[in-house]
Amino acid sequence: MNIFKLHPDGSVIYYMLEREIYLNETSRKYPYFYDCGDKIRHYAVCPACNNPIQIIGLFRKHTESPLYAKHIPKTIPDLAEYRQEAYENCPLAAKRNICAEKGQKKRGNDGISKQLLNIIEKNFDRIVYVLQRSLGIYVSARLAENLLDDYLKEEAYLYKYASLINIPWMLAYFSRSRSLVRRIIHDEDIRKTIQKKVADATFNEKGQLIVKDDGKIRILFYFTNHNIKFEKGFTCESIDMEIYLSIMGRKEKICTKTISFDYDYFRYMRNIPENKGRRNGELIALAQDKPRRYREDRKKFTFKDS
Ligand SMILES: [Zn+2]
Repeated sequence: MNIFKLHPDGSVIYYMLEREIYLNETSRKYPYFYDCGDKIRHYAVCPACNNPIQIIGLFRKHTESPLYAKHIPKTIPDLAEYRQEAYENCPLAAKRNICAEKGQKKRGNDGISKQLLNIIEKNFDRIVYVLQRSLGIYVSARLAENLLDDYLKEEAYLYKYASLINIPWMLAYFSRSRSLVRRIIHDEDIRKTIQKKVADATFNEKGQLIVKDDGKIRILFYFTNHNIKFEKGFTCESIDMEIYLSIMGRKEKICTKTISFDYDYFRYMRNIPENKGRRNGELIALAQDKPRRYREDRKKFTFKDS
């Protein structure tokens, strides 16, 4: 992997793995610089699964293999506890292509689920913004709330491949089919395709999709096909957004947009301090306490991982 963080705590940020960044962020201190007797090993924490990782090639020459980090199957004292289940579910540990299925729930006691919900509560506006940018569709507060409700009702935080770095896209992946009509569509390709394939569809000056006969024709979208690929040493994840036409109940495909997860942009947004940058109070308020309230409603569900 090419990212790292310093603590398993879910609120902390993560960094691109570059030598100078690693040296500065760790201050070259214990436990990141770990004296193993015969040599000093370099450690950090996996941003996706909270397991310890080892930095390989920190001081290697350019001609040798590039700097990277890999999971290590043991607890590093004072840094991170090793959890096998979290490792097995970690997309950054995949090293194999996975066609994930929604049925592949659930996580057990690996500590990630609770962190996912904490991150959502504190960063919901940023998560929605990252998702909106990926989709090319404006996500209104109402739609954001619908997505969050579906996410909680589907218990997406227990999904095997929900990780700390793919939250915005998991919010989409677990949502039900929704209408695209009256939504503002920024993605030019989607706009053109809809206009080409649906004679009654137009866009107004705000970029909202307008359909002449709302009653009979519906344009909807949903998400499918969560893919985790290991390519050129890195993990890439994607989901497909399916846009389709429903005429009197008959389904006709309009287009598929493959949404590649932009881990880097999500990292950038998460790294902006909580009190800095533009925050959307409406979205933050909307997510505030929602997971907790939801959990209380579902008495049967309890976290074992404090
Ligand atoms: Zn991991």
